[in-house]
Amino acid sequence: RHSEYKAQYNILDETTSFYQEQLRTSSHRDQAVTYLKSRGLTGKIAQVFGIGYAPPGWDNLLKKIGTTPDNLLLLEKSGMLIRHEERDSLYDRFRERIIFPIRDMRGRTIAFGGRVLGDDKPKYLNSPETDTFHKSRELYGLYEARKLSQKLERIIIVEGYMDVISLAQFGITYAVATLGTATTAQHIERLFKTVPEIIFCFDGDSAGRKAAERALEATLPIIKDGFQARFLFLPEGDDPDTLIRRESREGFEKRLNEAPLLSEFFFRSLEEDIDMTSMDGQAKFSNAALPLIQQMQTSLLQQMMLDRICKVTGLTLDQINNTINLTQSIPS
Ligand code: ATP
Ligand code: MN
Ligand code: MN
Ligand code: MN
Repeated sequence: RHSEYKAQYNILDETTSFYQEQLRTSSHRDQAVTYLKSRGLTGKIAQVFGIGYAPPGWDNLLKKIGTTPDNLLLLEKSGMLIRHEERDSLYDRFRERIIFPIRDMRGRTIAFGGRVLGDDKPKYLNSPETDTFHKSRELYGLYEARKLSQKLERIIIVEGYMDVISLAQFGITYAVATLGTATTAQHIERLFKTVPEIIFCFDGDSAGRKAAERALEATLPIIKDGFQARFLFLPEGDDPDTLIRRESREGFEKRLNEAPLLSEFFFRSLEEDIDMTSMDGQAKFSNAALPLIQQMQTSLLQQMMLDRICKVTGLTLDQINNTINLTQSIPS
């Protein structure tokens, strides 16, 4: 089993080199290079992230790396080749796309992301889940962030490959992206093992705001005293890539430093549609907040958030607790 994994890593490594080489030598390389330039990427940053290019065609990788039955099997297993059931033949998954290698903590390629050069759909394509690639666990850019920063003090979670790479190019070398999934508890736990502060920074659109709410709910049961989470909201229509190009490193870091902390975002989002001056509003607010606060680890932060509910409602912690216990004991 160990040697099987090793063969898998090796073939993904060869595949990474193949795509990188295509960016230099393919007869279609001009359009790839032009695209990367149009996105403002330097050759240097492309190299740091190991960016490559899958040229047009159904069998470029197949012909180059799939030269033995063993290799074909490995390429299919790693999701690089797709089997056409009717024809019982294999073809390249990634065609005519910019290629982003996804690396594990040790720098080994475990999967790829691919972006079309134009506006075709789907814009992004990822490797499928495999034995060595679990989307709910992996974070794009974590390996590079550790390599680029001497000491990581905080990590930004963004949505996309280009966000991670742009931020790094502008000197913010500590961003990672989830891979087309929501932020999971596993992601957060993993990051809190690396740094004491996480900053969520999703796109300035409704999907981004929804992602932030879900990230908040995933963070609440995990966060402990001594750790911090912030939520940076971008102007409508921006993502980290577009914003840092406009505001540069200083502007972006100012936003990071001023981003609301978890408790601030928590109360702000709960209070949003509630009339907090009315008793009914305060009860509604408390009923929404309490079950979430109950999920938290016993901590000073939890106590202080409960305290806030007491202040809002004018009730004591005992009164609140009794009411909750009462509610819970009534069968519904
Ligand atoms: P770009 O800046 O390259 O045009 P974008 O910022 O418009 O991309 P979004 O639509 O905001 O991209 O998506 C953000 C991220 O979500 C992408 O970088 C990618 O990682 C992921 N993603 C988007 N669409 C898909 C998809 N169809 N399948 C898998 N992942 C996707
Ligand atoms: Mn978006
Ligand atoms: Mn973008
Ligand atoms: Mn985006």
